[in-house]
Amino acid sequence: MGTSDGKVKGSTKIVDAGPNTQRWNVAIVSEGYRESEMGQFAADAQQFANTLLAAAPFDRLRAAINIHRVDVTSTDSGAKDPKCGTSGGTGAKPKTYFDASFCTQGIRRLLVGNSGRVMNVVKKLVPQVHIALLEVNSPIHGGSGGSVATFSKAPGAVEIALHELGHTAFSLADEYEYSRDCRQGGHEKHSQSEPSQPNITTNKNRATTKWARLIKATTAVPTTVNANCKVCDPQPTPVPAGTVGLFEGADYFHCRVYRPEFDCRMRNIGMPFCAVCQQAIVKKLTPFLPT
Ligand SMILES: [Zn+2]
Repeated sequence: MGTSDGKVKGSTKIVDAGPNTQRWNVAIVSEGYRESEMGQFAADAQQFANTLLAAAPFDRLRAAINIHRVDVTSTDSGAKDPKCGTSGGTGAKPKTYFDASFCTQGIRRLLVGNSGRVMNVVKKLVPQVHIALLEVNSPIHGGSGGSVATFSKAPGAVEIALHELGHTAFSLADEYEYSRDCRQGGHEKHSQSEPSQPNITTNKNRATTKWARLIKATTAVPTTVNANCKVCDPQPTPVPAGTVGLFEGADYFHCRVYRPEFDCRMRNIGMPFCAVCQQAIVKKLTPFLPT
């Protein structure tokens, strides 16, 4: 188990925008790659870097971002995949350096490694690191936010990585309105208290809501209302894509909590970040731009 199941090989700066002391430093770490698979990890890390830097608003913040590849080998490929209720699980138990596993908290897609161990390795090699991602060499769909954003190699996994990075690096909330599925009980109405995350709100007052400045006077507020709080709102968007307003349903609840746009990367994988999420990212990374 753990660090006896592999080796820390070193780090390589694969995107260099300037001195580590002045830039925002991202580290991408390998998990479940055998020695013979490290060439594949180099290609996977480069693909992640390219996708990140092409996605808005990172495309206009390139001058602020360094990306470091951290090579760690494992004895075996993949991640633990325990039997997971009714949603499967192969029972595989590969020996890997960070002990990543699917089926965390009984949810198969929730893929988590030993975050403390990841940060220990990264801080030794890249002391100025701001955020670490763990890339898990498994074709099974999964990922997680938390202190280390984690993703696998399922189709579209780099898109999952950008969503998880939204949680880990920018404190963005999930903008989808369900946990297990759209009919699950206990997810009808959000508490009335205002969430801390920048991209969800319970305040439907046009003048005082969190992203009031981005809502046009001609946009209805709230912009959508869920007619049946027992389920997710099935209605299509009543406004053009990219319209900022108050759309009911977010943060795992069907009602009484609002998201800024009809869709966003924090709601659906593969969508761009909405204007409010982009604004939060820009605000955080602007201090790292060259003067
Ligand atoms: Zn958003």
